[in-house]
Amino acid sequence: MVVIKVEEVSKLYNETLAVKCCDIQVASGEILALLGPSGSGKTTLLRLIAGFERPNEGRIIIGDRTVVDVAGSVWVPAEARGVGMVFQDYALFPHLTVTQNIQFGLRTISNKDRQDRVQELLRVTELLPYAERYPHELSGGQQQRVALARALAPRPPVVLLDEAFNGLDPELRPQMRREVARILRHMRTAAVLVTHDQEEALGMADQVAVIRNGELQQVGTPEDVYYNPTTIFVAGFIGHADFIPGVLAGNEVHTEIGIFSCPAQLPSGPVKVMIRHEAVNAKPGGVLATVEEREFLGGEILYRLRLPSGARVHLEQRKPVHWPVGHQVPIEAQLPQAVVFSDSNGENPT
Ligand code: ADP
Repeated sequence: MVVIKVEEVSKLYNETLAVKCCDIQVASGEILALLGPSGSGKTTLLRLIAGFERPNEGRIIIGDRTVVDVAGSVWVPAEARGVGMVFQDYALFPHLTVTQNIQFGLRTISNKDRQDRVQELLRVTELLPYAERYPHELSGGQQQRVALARALAPRPPVVLLDEAFNGLDPELRPQMRREVARILRHMRTAAVLVTHDQEEALGMADQVAVIRNGELQQVGTPEDVYYNPTTIFVAGFIGHADFIPGVLAGNEVHTEIGIFSCPAQLPSGPVKVMIRHEAVNAKPGGVLATVEEREFLGGEILYRLRLPSGARVHLEQRKPVHWPVGHQVPIEAQLPQAVVFSDSNGENPT
């Protein structure tokens, strides 16, 4: 069931069109990640759904209720939208215990129901041993779970998370993402997650909405936006990709490192071909590429290679093979389906 519908929503701040005619839909139990660079409009879109900002155009529907409709002059204030928020700094009440923080939004229900609900949330978020502690007596991960439990306590159909993992140590984040995703799905909540971290978006979300300059570039599953980016910006922003020149001829694209099959979406002629780092391998007899740069990354060595045409690709070498700068490496690329972009738009992928 679709719980959040954002329809043709735009937001103008003075001269800045922060959100341009955006459409998104999120179903119950589904997590949508809004992913984009800083200043791309992610927070504005989240604040429009929450009711902290008024759009200049469009409609937002939560559950079966229209919460804002500019043309129809409908406006439901933030506190009446049934939306839970988890902020970057968690915004816990420092003078209240974990239990009291979670109870905060439950003042209107009976004592018994309130206690049952708090117990359930303490259990789901694995906070039972910390119920009587104050926020300053908790780790970052525990504080984040309290913030989530507090947001979920009134059973909101929608939870919005604003860069909610930023405050955590990087090594804690993957585990917390998994836990938060598990809890949100368990509660059948529709969630929108704002992040500039693609690992977080790809790892946690059912749908990723890539936004740039206020415009949604692509909305799709993590696999979709990764393997089938529809714009050169998405291709460059998600994962690691290089773009080399090619010539499209029907269902094939010809490049200096091979001929690849390619669904014919563009007219034949010059194109840019996306080459992900992991698609490039060393192969005896392959095209000779020159090592320009070498970066040791622990589990792998990232080599930047120059092709005979001057175009560049990267190769992730997982074996401890040392190639000095200037060395010539024979390479091939493995692309089950090439992703190509028009050569004429001249757009910078990043
Ligand atoms: P993100 O969350 O992706 O970093 P924001 O939604 O915060 O981006 O901002 C989008 C654009 O809107 C930026 O150009 C930002 O400067 C502008 N903006 C955001 N909030 C305001 C505001 N309250 N007043 C004026 N401009 C704003």
